[in-house]
Amino acid sequence: MSRIVGIDLGTTNSLVATVEAGIPFVIASADGQRLTPSVVHFPESNAPPIVGRLAHRVRILQPERTVYSIKRFMGRRGADVADEKMLVTYPVRGDGAEPVAVALGKRLVSPEEVSAEILRQVRRDAESHFGEPITRAVITVPAYFNDAQRSATQRAGELAGLTVERILNEPTAAALAYGLDKLHERARIAVYDLGGGTFDLSLLELQDGVFQVLATSGNTRLGGDDLDQRLVDRLAARIRATGGPDARADLPMLARLRESAEAAKIRLSTDTEIEIHLPFLTPEFSFRDRLTRAELEDLTRDLITRTRTHCLRALADAQLQPRDLDQVILVGGQTRMPLVRRTVAEIFGCPEFDEVRGDLRLGSDYHRPTGPRLNTSQNPDEAVALGAAIQAEILAGGFRNLLLLDVTPLSLGLETFGGLMNVIIPRNTTIPVKAGEKFTTAVDFQRQMLIHVLQGERERAADNWSLGRFTLEFEPAPKGAARVGVQFEIDANGILHVLARDLQTGRQKVVALKSAVDVSDTDVQRMIEQSVEHAFDDLHARQWIETRLRARETVAATRNGLTSAGDALEPDYRTRVEQALAAVEAALATETPPTQTGDVNRLKSAIAALDEATRPLAELMMDKAMEAHLRKRGLIQ
Ligand code: AMP
Repeated sequence: MSRIVGIDLGTTNSLVATVEAGIPFVIASADGQRLTPSVVHFPESNAPPIVGRLAHRVRILQPERTVYSIKRFMGRRGADVADEKMLVTYPVRGDGAEPVAVALGKRLVSPEEVSAEILRQVRRDAESHFGEPITRAVITVPAYFNDAQRSATQRAGELAGLTVERILNEPTAAALAYGLDKLHERARIAVYDLGGGTFDLSLLELQDGVFQVLATSGNTRLGGDDLDQRLVDRLAARIRATGGPDARADLPMLARLRESAEAAKIRLSTDTEIEIHLPFLTPEFSFRDRLTRAELEDLTRDLITRTRTHCLRALADAQLQPRDLDQVILVGGQTRMPLVRRTVAEIFGCPEFDEVRGDLRLGSDYHRPTGPRLNTSQNPDEAVALGAAIQAEILAGGFRNLLLLDVTPLSLGLETFGGLMNVIIPRNTTIPVKAGEKFTTAVDFQRQMLIHVLQGERERAADNWSLGRFTLEFEPAPKGAARVGVQFEIDANGILHVLARDLQTGRQKVVALKSAVDVSDTDVQRMIEQSVEHAFDDLHARQWIETRLRARETVAATRNGLTSAGDALEPDYRTRVEQALAAVEAALATETPPTQTGDVNRLKSAIAALDEATRPLAELMMDKAMEAHLRKRGLIQ
């Protein structure tokens, strides 16, 4: 069996790792570095792309031909690319225009192709380390990556000539790296992962070598790059204010600013005040300024605070309190920032944090509060890659005492009657998983059923995210007979396969779910927040839709009853039923969904009154049905 390597395909840096003699380690690149900047430069000649540190340097000279942070664009819709040919440029982001591809002269490069170049580079590094071809890999992605983003990552691997044996969630990988030497402890941990482009929070339980993910939450569009952007804006404004050029109008200058901003941010993790010097922005203008850590913190505090909601949400999902956790592990380069550490310590109630030393104050007179310990022992840059290597080793048959159970980040379900979301696999279900449900038809002699696959946490289908839709044709039959079985299966890579089967004929369809999804990552992120924000509206909406469906059914059944009962009803009684019917129809006529439960209650009590009024009618119908049945069997004349 050939070797499997673990690859952390990061927004900022990528790493390749392996396990040898039971020890995971990161493989150094050709130039002796363990981190390969996830930057690709496409030279003007047809020379092969340049990846890594060199590309990072060239970025300042030729920003328009140099791509960075491509991970943020993975899984974007490819269909629009053709139309936007030559118009899309990279790399300016944060300006509202979201490029889905990179136009390089006459060439158009997709995010997968750019990522494939990075993967090819780390693959080459691994090959020169081992002196043999490498064709198999485990690649990590943020836990919050959706289907489209996971598939795109898988395709990037394939383009780079790798068989992707597993797509692994980054925080899970980090925990795997952390847990390896603690196999016999039972521990609940949070992995707080703030990298260059993404934020992930996972809660895991480690026991006897079993890793179970209890909950995940995160934001695929929040990371160190956003902090850099704040600093870039500030620098650009200061340069203008001191009589300098408009850096935002000049790509190479903007790239210089960006690099200087990131370097300043990193230095302020250890220093409290620094000098920023940008000589010769133009032949006449050099820029010099001082920046304090406090200023950086003021500029970026709201970004860091945004991670708080996700932490609380994951805790609520897992039904845990911070004090139930043993440790909070910090992963991702951005967690080196003191403000991040203080914020995490505050969110989880970790023991008081010694900001100056950047470490925990654990003196002998120190009384440990009840919160979890903030664990900074992992190298935040390497944990994910090491975890990927451990997972690779498990797949290759090593580490037999380790098992990994992962979970779904968002609920998956189908649209049902009235436009509601019917959840089939709830969020935070351990994967791989298979779950199914039977569906009935809404209309008599329906010939086909629309299977609309949704992902999200909202009650109404339209508020969720559409993963794909397809129809299943089947034999017509009266409404309400259970006819279609739908099965969702999420494989170990977190990819969804949907099967729909006509239970009568066995005819079935398995959907090739379109990986193109027309919703931006920000919306995925917002989904979770909105489900909390709109919890009450959603509840009302569901009640409203369900009550209306019931009302319509009751009205139709009553009308049928009145027709077939004919003369057998007393005129007074008939009038009473018709009045109750009219009341339900009037309540139904209110078309807009209610903002108050009172509106639903009006309809509910009208239905209850109709139910009450039709009880004698129902008994009469039962008697008639019984009579018909007995007559048919020859038991009465
Ligand atoms: P990652 O994606 O995990 O490689 O994280 C990269 C991000 O961490 C980038 O935004 C870096 O600027 C940031 N970073 C790396 N080292 C530090 C540091 N010492 N202080 C603050 N941010 C850092």
